[in-house]
Amino acid sequence: MDGMTQGEQFHMFVDGQHKQAEESREVRDPATGEVIGLAPVGTRSDLDAAVAAAKRAQPGWAQQSDEVRAQACRKLANIIDDHSAELAQLLTKEQGKPLKGIGSEFELGGCSAWLNATAQLALPVEVIQDDDAARVEKRYVPLGVIGSITPWNWPLLIAIWHIAPSIRAGNTVVIKPSPYTTLSTLRMVELLAAALPQGVLNVVADGEGVAEGLTTHKDVDKIIFTGSTETGKKIMVAAAPTLKKLTLEMGGNDAGIVLPDVDPKAVAEGIFWGAFINNGQTCAALKRLYVHDDIYDEICSELAQLAETMPMGPGLDESNVLGPIQNEMQFQKVTRLASSSPTEGGRVITGGAPREGKGFFFPITLIADAREGMACVDEEQFGPLLPIIRFTEVDDAIRQANSLDVDLAASVWSKDIDRALAIAERLVAGTVYINKHGEVAPHIPFGGARYSSMGVEFGIEGLKSCTNIKVYNIAK
Ligand code: NAD
Repeated sequence: MDGMTQGEQFHMFVDGQHKQAEESREVRDPATGEVIGLAPVGTRSDLDAAVAAAKRAQPGWAQQSDEVRAQACRKLANIIDDHSAELAQLLTKEQGKPLKGIGSEFELGGCSAWLNATAQLALPVEVIQDDDAARVEKRYVPLGVIGSITPWNWPLLIAIWHIAPSIRAGNTVVIKPSPYTTLSTLRMVELLAAALPQGVLNVVADGEGVAEGLTTHKDVDKIIFTGSTETGKKIMVAAAPTLKKLTLEMGGNDAGIVLPDVDPKAVAEGIFWGAFINNGQTCAALKRLYVHDDIYDEICSELAQLAETMPMGPGLDESNVLGPIQNEMQFQKVTRLASSSPTEGGRVITGGAPREGKGFFFPITLIADAREGMACVDEEQFGPLLPIIRFTEVDDAIRQANSLDVDLAASVWSKDIDRALAIAERLVAGTVYINKHGEVAPHIPFGGARYSSMGVEFGIEGLKSCTNIKVYNIAK
């Protein structure tokens, strides 16, 4: 370890115990630049040890009764609740999101809610034929070892989205968190793993050969990945020789269409948070806003008013509802998209340039007069910037909304629900929201169309995706 480093050392957790790393690196608070802790650097041999532990533990875990595994999910939910204050503080320091509002405490609440909801699911034996010829049963059996790869935007909630259905269905897990949010994931997973039989849940920090090891390992049966479409494609290639099952939740460049019958004041807040939840760093955030000409100026000015009055600052200060961008790479991307917009014909109505001083703070930025072909429209910004596109013909808005290939969700805003539903039918998306955007819930399947997703998460469909179907066909 570098003698100049400071801060608490965090550890990986493998086979029921801490695993020390030979090397560590500093992790900094995106709001202040201060060192908040030391992350271990994982290696291929750490990964191999974790996969071996998960493989050893899996048959015993699969043999536990369904009720034992349901009970384990409830126990993990209680552990999250008991440690939620500590985990929320750490998440805010590492990820940047505020403690309050739709921030860290909200994320931890989601973790325990998802675990409890997963405990309530069941996959009983289904009898699909029982007659003079045969009795045929369909059973859902675990896959084996599941590798989980998570992003940095909702790192703890997404880790639970992977872990909960995996272990509920009788699999064991090796998780590799994003290098940007290693500490909070390590801490949460060690608390959970210590409450499960040895080897059922393991966490290995990112490092050379770790991601590759997980996606190519012969003893890993499935990868659940949440992250960008480009990485998802690479994982699919890497996983091909070992024919791993895949659930890939990837990028979204979600469109929202606002019809002329809305009351701009009434819908502005819903649109604002649909776009700027977690500072826009949300897969299913509203990322392209199509507004009818009749109400265009009013919607722009309502959104600008909200943007200018929303407190943004360090997340540990409880008065802030928006924090910094999580990392420098993303900060540079938003800066590039904001600065290229005026040269491409866009009009910055608020924000537009990074805030001076410490931290990756970038004010909420609204780009009016945006058009297809502009970088901020065609690329997923994944940050506090929203292009607002004017339309007069709804057919043209639908065409533009469908013109990209990353369609996690879309929304239609109108007082006329039948009209909104008719538009919803023509939108390509995993979810179409009417008069809201971005809500997810443990009982509602979530996934996208085209390049956004492969498979769905949540609910019974999500649980089934952590299983194989095994048929018992008994002659009579
Ligand atoms: P990313 O793809 O850069 O990284 C995600 C994870 O993949 C990280 O853990 C990273 O270390 C790992 N990774 C990188 N290269 C890899 C490789 N070759 N093999 C295996 N793993 C590899 O994504 P990000 O920047 O962390 O997250 C932002 C993206 O995630 C956005 O596009 C966003 O829309 C998407 N996202 C999607 C969902 C969803 O549910 N669909 C949810 C959250 C975020």
